[in-house]
Amino acid sequence: MKQSHLFTKTRREAPKDEVAKNAQLLIRAGYINKEMAGVYSFLPLGLRVMNKIVQIIREEMNAIGGQEVHLTALQDKKVWEMTNRWDDAIVDNWFKTKLKNGSDVGLGFTHEEPLTNLMKDHIRSFRDLPRAIYQFQTKFRNEDRAKSGIMRAREFLMKDLYSFNVDDEAHQAFYEQARKAYTRIFDRLGLGGQTYLTFAAGGSFSKYSHEFQTITDAGEDIIYVHEGKRLAVNKEVLNDEVLGDLGISRTDLVEKKAVEVGNIFSLGTKFSDALGLNFKDAEGKLKPVIMGSYGIGPGRVMGTIAELWSDDKGLVWPESVSPFAIHLIALNDESGDVKKATDELYEKLTKKDVEVLYDDRDETAGTKFSDSDLIGIPRRIVISAKTLKDNSAEIKDRKTDTVEMVAISSL
Ligand code: ATP
Ligand code: MG
Repeated sequence: MKQSHLFTKTRREAPKDEVAKNAQLLIRAGYINKEMAGVYSFLPLGLRVMNKIVQIIREEMNAIGGQEVHLTALQDKKVWEMTNRWDDAIVDNWFKTKLKNGSDVGLGFTHEEPLTNLMKDHIRSFRDLPRAIYQFQTKFRNEDRAKSGIMRAREFLMKDLYSFNVDDEAHQAFYEQARKAYTRIFDRLGLGGQTYLTFAAGGSFSKYSHEFQTITDAGEDIIYVHEGKRLAVNKEVLNDEVLGDLGISRTDLVEKKAVEVGNIFSLGTKFSDALGLNFKDAEGKLKPVIMGSYGIGPGRVMGTIAELWSDDKGLVWPESVSPFAIHLIALNDESGDVKKATDELYEKLTKKDVEVLYDDRDETAGTKFSDSDLIGIPRRIVISAKTLKDNSAEIKDRKTDTVEMVAISSL
């Protein structure tokens, strides 16, 4: 993409009311736009990052047998009344509205109810199991606090997968596969080193659930990290019992601020009982389906990466999610030779499917470099009158600041 074509402009200052570092940087670099508190639009650069995050998650969900769907945001009150989750006294973050005929609809904050209900038409016998169904879908939550930028939005994308199994053993086996898939996902997203499998409250069907918590001061959660075992315990369940279960001692734990980037949860028969999702086993006996749910917030992940991988000049994307692989910069020269050579290189790289953002604008070197630092593409290639004299270009690594001269022909 040519930067002269990109409609977004960088800006020196983030909006005054934006307090989160992730949103400040992403707004300044033109990745997102703040519509109101906790509500953000994704612009071309931001959408490219989001799509890369989504694709990594999608590949790993497909690898464990996930089938992708897209359920509706609008929710039928009747279905939610069956699990007693329609009432605002029970669920306090609903956005609700009314149809013209006066009946109530909600904007989904999660999708256990509609998917369980839908699966009643598709799961009849043990032969129809196991199943793992997932989506990338917009959730709406009337969150109290919206001070963490895109890490806590009121409208946000979620990957939610739901598993359906015949019994607890089969469920546990899938749960373990999902746990491993999550570890791969956060590794690939560049968060592996800072992300811990965290024991958290489990609900009525399992003692614990598991959160994937990434250490950052921007996080709203407190966890206790056991570095040796690469695991953590959420503050909400830290007690002698959990320490005993994990075979760890309190003195080995270090308190950290963290953000929950994902979680996996055993649901047991909570939803299948309430909504009547049963199957016939090999003996023809009717049994409730055992369920699990597995969430990740791609927007929260993007915000977390921005918090972790940035410096005083701007963003520093991991290669796997960077909007482009290369930021190609042509510095102005009077002769037009630099422009010509850089145009040519851009064409060649693009033909080879290398993702290039090409700064072909008529701007000063200072402006181009500071914009490039802010946008944060990991590798920068600069061609100037000076480098062109040697038929070479300068390659700069955004993270390490190291510079290398290479022949343009070798690029
Ligand atoms: P939190 O305790 O931080 O509010 P949660 O327990 O409500 O999270 P889930 O309902 O399990 O989160 O949602 C699954 C995933 O969706 C979370 O792990 C997180 O990555 C993401 N997520 C949840 N709430 C938000 C939000 N308001 N904005 C962006 N992403 C979110
Ligand atoms: Mg929440």
